[in-house]
Amino acid sequence: MTAPVVVCSWTGIREEPPEETEAALTLGRSVSAGLGVGLVWLVVGPAPQDCAEVAARHGVGEIEVISDPKLSTGLADSFVEAVCRFLGDHPAGLVLFSQTFDTRLVAPLVAGRLGASVVMNALDVAVEGDGLEVTAAAFGGDTRVVYRAATGRPCVVALLANSVVPEPASSPSSPTVSEVPVDLSEVHERVRVLDPARAEGPRLEDAEIIVAGGRGLGSPQNYKLVEQLAEALGGMAAASRPIVDDGWIDSSRQVGLTGKITRPALYLAAGISGATQHMVGCSAAKTIVAVNSDPDAPIFRHARYGIVADCNEVLPELVRAVTQVSDSHD
Ligand SMILES: Cc1cc2nc3c(=O)[nH]c(=O)nc-3n(C[C@H](O)[C@H](O)[C@H](O)COP(=O)(O)OP(=O)(O)OC[C@H]3O[C@@H](n4cnc5c(N)ncnc54)[C@H](O)[C@@H]3O)c2cc1C
Repeated sequence: MTAPVVVCSWTGIREEPPEETEAALTLGRSVSAGLGVGLVWLVVGPAPQDCAEVAARHGVGEIEVISDPKLSTGLADSFVEAVCRFLGDHPAGLVLFSQTFDTRLVAPLVAGRLGASVVMNALDVAVEGDGLEVTAAAFGGDTRVVYRAATGRPCVVALLANSVVPEPASSPSSPTVSEVPVDLSEVHERVRVLDPARAEGPRLEDAEIIVAGGRGLGSPQNYKLVEQLAEALGGMAAASRPIVDDGWIDSSRQVGLTGKITRPALYLAAGISGATQHMVGCSAAKTIVAVNSDPDAPIFRHARYGIVADCNEVLPELVRAVTQVSDSHD
């Protein structure tokens, strides 16, 4: 394979977390070094202020920026068109996305347009001979699958959050920065936004302290205990999927494979079993504390501290204790 590795990020309307971009650049660098090819960072949307600095730290050779005004709509067709036009003129061996809410949609569309193979939920990409082996999570994270990418054809890979630890290159590069002129004025968006959803307040993905509740709470009324403890700790309340599905709480609070990927300092899980699909969204937490009445619950395998008890009794005690401590500091 001689074509470069292209790490592609979609900036602008919904920023991808910087650690995810850096994780993709870290993996892109290792693959490009293994293949002896260049590393390109394709920024679709306005270039972040620190992009040259980030690129240099990760040994990127070229930064290519496409910043047509149509990209600020955040709609998929303009993005796919922009990326495919770039890749039509500059063929890539590997196109690497960090897998976000948005790229889950566009990575397969880009692959379809390029006639490339695509692997979602990727955990790693390794060089094998002159080809690539992509390891990915399957069946909701329960299984790992290794795909061998066909040589001579591009491969599009979406990298799951928290699967690669961002690491700077041993020696920084001096990347070139180029604006890529792409006219998207003729692109017809197939999706029309009638009433844009407004996300207000802090994001779960950025929270340092999260208190999450699950089906073990027993009833929607008990979810207020989770909210009270989150508030007392100055953190955010979150949930497992079943209680979101049952309408106890809004889907913006769901943590996991099909919810938010979080990385707080403290993740307190109350009445949550610790299913793989949930843990995908919180296993990067520095400290996990679990409250579960079943001593064999899988969550205890991930938790640094565990309390085997009824969470509806423990949560009010924790609220009392935290409030007492903060009152004594006032
Ligand atoms: C493709 C796919 C994607 C998925 N995506 C997600 C996702 O994004 N997020 C997610 O969360 N799940 C997801 N799931 C669902 C996931 O597999 C689990 O079913 C779910 O996480 C379980 O939620 P839970 O732990 O709240 O409930 P349960 O599995 O029912 O566990 C409840 C826990 O509470 C404990 N408990 C019961 N009573 C009490 C009490 N009084 N006090 C303390 N503990 C008590 C029980 O011992 C048990 O461990 C997904 C599944 C699939 C197939």
